[in-house]
Amino acid sequence: MSAAGTRRQRERGIEDSVEAHLADIERISGGTARADLVELAARHAPETIEWLADQGFEFAPETPRLVYGHEPYGVPRTYYGKDAGLSILAVLKRLLDEQIAAGRVELWQRSTAFSLTEASSESPRVGVLRSGVDEVEVSAPAIVLATGGFASDADLFRELEGGTLVSAAHPTSTGDGLVIAREAGAAIAGQGQYLPTFGGLPHPTTPGKAFFEERPLLVATERLPWEIYVDRHGLRFVAEDEPSIDTKERRLATSTEGTFWTVFDDRARRNSVPMVVGWSPEDVLSKAGVRADVHKADTLPELAALAGIDPDGLTATVARYNTAVAEGRDPEFGRTHLPAPIAEPPFSPWRTTPSPWSPSPGWTSTSTSASAAPTAPPWRACTPWAR
Ligand SMILES: Cc1cc2nc3c(=O)[nH]c(=O)nc-3n(C[C@H](O)[C@H](O)[C@H](O)COP(=O)(O)OP(=O)(O)OC[C@H]3O[C@@H](n4cnc5c(N)ncnc54)[C@H](O)[C@@H]3O)c2cc1C
Repeated sequence: MSAAGTRRQRERGIEDSVEAHLADIERISGGTARADLVELAARHAPETIEWLADQGFEFAPETPRLVYGHEPYGVPRTYYGKDAGLSILAVLKRLLDEQIAAGRVELWQRSTAFSLTEASSESPRVGVLRSGVDEVEVSAPAIVLATGGFASDADLFRELEGGTLVSAAHPTSTGDGLVIAREAGAAIAGQGQYLPTFGGLPHPTTPGKAFFEERPLLVATERLPWEIYVDRHGLRFVAEDEPSIDTKERRLATSTEGTFWTVFDDRARRNSVPMVVGWSPEDVLSKAGVRADVHKADTLPELAALAGIDPDGLTATVARYNTAVAEGRDPEFGRTHLPAPIAEPPFSPWRTTPSPWSPSPGWTSTSTSASAAPTAPPWRACTPWAR
């Protein structure tokens, strides 16, 4: 969670303001974020953090801090709990339980919302499969659709973003809210702005999934690379030590088919900070040939054959990279961290696939849409989240 001008920042001598937060969002998103939603979120963020603090939320002690997994803010303004999301749940569950005990809230678990209807003269109604058994209709003066994003629905992802989904999202990210709202007359907004994360290791057992728990550290600020990245043709496409992860993501999206391989040799394996969270240098060897898309080979052509990379392209690229290391200058991409040639077998290529954390489309008011139905319900604009 990010918030500017909080007590916690002041206690740590961090000067910040909502205006600086908004300016950072404008810079980081290149002006592509929804100004109305961003303004709402940024202005209410500090009071949300103070409220959580007053409710006994257990902040991770290092927060607020700069986080580099995405393009960083200008000042430390990112907070999370000592147990990540569970710390938020601890606060909310206590408050929810109080309301349930007081008889003010009824909680239905394992109950799926499947429809929404609204006639102008009546309250909106939502259809729910209660406890997976009874179909019931609930009517209320207002209904909040908080069903999350669609980063686990390959069909909806293909329809809205036009690509193949490889996702680290939870299986409940089905996009139900989007489908329900669309069927009730809302338009979908925010398409065409999807930017994948820079890369995840394919899930060990489930095709089409990336494995967040074993994510590769490909942000140069967190770990300087000893490896090169190549596409299917064996060609590099970016300076691997480029400090901006946004630049790397954009280059990946525009210059490759999406998938790329990190290629390194045994010296890099022994000397660099391990590339995957939780893996030791020994794990890199023991998982090769066992774990999906993790390989090792004694020669570059063998390695290319194992990984499905063009062998001539890879061999030529590694030769050019090794010359750049010897000369201390990378004329192709301007990489400056050139610690060692890729020359000592065994060589390793790992396939990494970009995956969505937060696709941007959400439903929006039909009233301003070209496809607006005359009887469009009064949708308030909403989007799952903007990165
Ligand atoms: C790997 C990964 C890492 C991420 N890291 C970060 C990060 O560091 N910082 C950050 O800010 N964001 C991060 N995100 C994004 C963030 O997790 C999401 O944007 C956020 O969780 C969305 O919250 P939500 O409440 O809208 O949806 P969700 O958390 O998905 O909650 C929606 C709920 O609705 C339920 N539901 C779905 N359909 C129905 C239905 N038909 N009926 C009833 N219930 C339904 C679901 O079961 C779920 O409980 C990350 C995402 C991923 C995948």
